[in-house]
This record gives sequence, structure tokens and C-alpha cells, in this order.
Amino acid sequence: MSKGRRKFLKQLVSVSGAAGLSGTSALSHAVAGKAQIQDIRLSKNEGYVRLVFDLDKSVQHSIFTLHKPERVVLDLKNASMSHGMVDMVQANSLIKGIRSGIQNGHDLRLVFDLHDQITPRSFLLAPSGKAGHRLVLDLHDPEKKSVKTISNKVPKKKLRDVIIAIDAGHGGRDPGATGRSGTKEKTITLQMAKKLEKVINAQRGMKAVLTRKDDRYLKLRQRIEKAHKHNADMMISIHADSFPDPRARGSSIYALSVNGASSEMARMLAEKENASDQLHGDVSVAFDDKMLKEVLVDLSLTGTIQSSLDVGNEVLKQIGTVNRVHKKKVQQAGFAVLKTPNIPSVLLETAFISNPREEKNLRSSAHQKKVAKAIGRGVNSYFQRKAPPGTWLSEAITDYKVKPGDNLSVIASKFNTSVDSLRARNALQSNNLSAGQVLKIPVS
Ligand SMILES: [Zn+2]
Repeated sequence: MSKGRRKFLKQLVSVSGAAGLSGTSALSHAVAGKAQIQDIRLSKNEGYVRLVFDLDKSVQHSIFTLHKPERVVLDLKNASMSHGMVDMVQANSLIKGIRSGIQNGHDLRLVFDLHDQITPRSFLLAPSGKAGHRLVLDLHDPEKKSVKTISNKVPKKKLRDVIIAIDAGHGGRDPGATGRSGTKEKTITLQMAKKLEKVINAQRGMKAVLTRKDDRYLKLRQRIEKAHKHNADMMISIHADSFPDPRARGSSIYALSVNGASSEMARMLAEKENASDQLHGDVSVAFDDKMLKEVLVDLSLTGTIQSSLDVGNEVLKQIGTVNRVHKKKVQQAGFAVLKTPNIPSVLLETAFISNPREEKNLRSSAHQKKVAKAIGRGVNSYFQRKAPPGTWLSEAITDYKVKPGDNLSVIASKFNTSVDSLRARNALQSNNLSAGQVLKIPVS
């Protein structure tokens, strides 16, 4: 390791002090079944730095940012790494240095000291070929996007909107399902998407983008690419169900299943026999290849599915207030359009177009509005808890100390928010509050 590499980097700082004794810590990994970081690889790309952590098993992780000074914090549950491993990472234009420490006796925390504010993104890659479990952390340099607007003024911290990609199912030569009165699914999905766009854009800190705005045919991959191009934080694909039995009715929500993804991947791998060799290569290299990108899309999904289920549950809860729910839980299947790495995605089967009564509802503008509002509430509840760092929603929160006699609805109306939002943001299991308790108040 060169001196230059070490120069910028701080030595490993261990809160517990245990990491220095490599023999002891190696033993404790084995006993506790901890995930071990085996290697850290760094690659520089246009506008971002990618760090790949090679792990011996899958880990739960979370990231958040801290400002003044700018930092990104990466927490890995029940994980460890050997002393001095952070030295392997070279300082660069984004990262000043990396520190690590033990949290709660068994969790690993990595703190990246940064030169400037950045937007982090992370996802997990499942083992494939010679490569094992990997955690990928991308540090995006926001400067790169706004080169033209550089002025002498001190740049103000700019908080971005949460981006929601709305995908109207089918279109053009693909009409989707057709109802008994001739209603086409592609028409309903587009009308719904436009109503949802309005609902989303009316919420501060949120912005909607549509994969299609008119009656045109789009391949599933093009839908995913659109979501990525707009840096979407979530994708909602809107459909209407159909079934031979006209009595089938109700809404259902789907997230991707890992099994569906892997069998789809197997199919693709069979078609493209060379892909497996190339898969063993570096992640960043592989991402440059369009065909491999699709395969990696499959692999990197595992970390996103949990979030998709979370979004799905919130939306389903709200849909249940305006429509009968066909399946009470979020269903999982291998929908290709949901294969969006790093973007929680759900597919909503709004209702059964094959059910005459629901077909009528689906055509009704008033009903469409009701459904769109319900989806909007679900999306809002999700982002009140999970707004990505660097977004307006993630910062638009104040603390409130509960006074004697307060209750959730009083506090909600005081801050012009809803009881649901308060409960979601504070992860409250019930409506009971105790005086002195501190609540996070989402700004709506
Ligand atoms: Zn459909």
C-alpha cells in the first residue's frame, strides 16, 4: 500500500477498542456469525465514486448523511472488518477519509468524511459466479449536474424532491385487458397515471414523472430505463386485472419476488451464454454493458424488495379505504417491469376490468381520483419514514415535545398533518402518547 494512499486516511477508530486485537475479533466473528468485510474496491466514474464491499454473507445496512462537516454514515448490522482495511481505499476528489467503529457491540459503522455534499445510494448484490455477497455504495457528486450554474455566491444547500415514476401499463399496439363494455386497460392506466401525477405534484417535496404521457407502446425495459433516467426513488406501475370469472373483484399490489427474478435471470443467461463469464467481472465494468445491465438488474434487487413490500403495504392500506382489496397482503411475482435495481417498485392492479361493476368504476373520473389520492397517501406515509438523504422531505421535520393532555389528532391538526403521517414518521404502534415524548413532525 502506498504512502499516498495512507496519507489522507485516518486510522481505524474503534469505539469498543476490540478491533485492535485481531485474534480475538476473528474468533468473535466466527462465534457470533458476523458478516465480515473481506475487501473494499473503489472505482471512479463520471459524477460518482463507487465502493464495493465484498462480504462473506448478506448484511442489513442503512445509510444517512450528516452535514457541516459533510459525512455519509454506513451502518452494517452484525458485521465487522479487519483492522486497517479502510486504508485500502484511496482518498479522492469526493472522499477525504474513512473512519470505522463498532456500534452496540456488534454492528459496524463506517463514516466517510467528504470534501463536499454528496448523494449516496446503496444496494446489495447477491453472489454470482466467483463473486460473493457485495454491498455497493455510490457517492454521487451533485456538482456534476449543475456545472453551468456555478457562480461566485456560496452555494446554498439544495434539497431535491423525491421522484416518483408513474408507469401507465400497456399502450399503443398493446391494449392490455379489455372489459365487457370494451374498456381498454391501456386507456384506464393512462388516465389513472395522469391523476396520480397531479396528486403527487401537489405534495411538497415530491415530483412525479410518467413513463408514457400518451397512447404509445413501450417495452418493459424502456419503462425501467425512464425511471432510472429520472433518478426515480420509487416506481408505481398501474394496471387493471382481468379474470375469466366476471365476479373476481378488488385491488391487489405486487412486488417482485426473488425467485421470479432468478428464474428470469436463468432464462436470460441461457440465451446469452457468454454473460456468465462477464458477470464475474467488476460491477462498474458490467454496468457499462447494456445486456449485462439487465442481468445485474436481477442480481441487485434483493435489497430493494424489502422496500418495495414496505411501499406496497402503505399503498394497499390506503387503497383499502376506497376499494375492496382482492388480496390483503402485497403479492410477489416476477414482473419484469419491477426489476429496477435500487428503486422500490410496486405494480398496482387497480381493479378487475373483467368485472362489469369495477369496469364502470375504473372508467369513472371521480373514482379514479379517489384511487389516485389513496395511492398518494400511501406514498406519502412511506416517504415520511424513508425519505432518501438529500431530499427536502428528509430534512423537513421538526421535533415536538408532547405536553400533558396532547393526543395525536390535536398535534396533527396543529401542524397541518395527518395522524397517519405522524404514526408513520414516528413508527408508533398505537395512538397512546406520554408527556415529554418527542415526536418528529413531518412537514406536509
Ligand atoms: Zn396490465
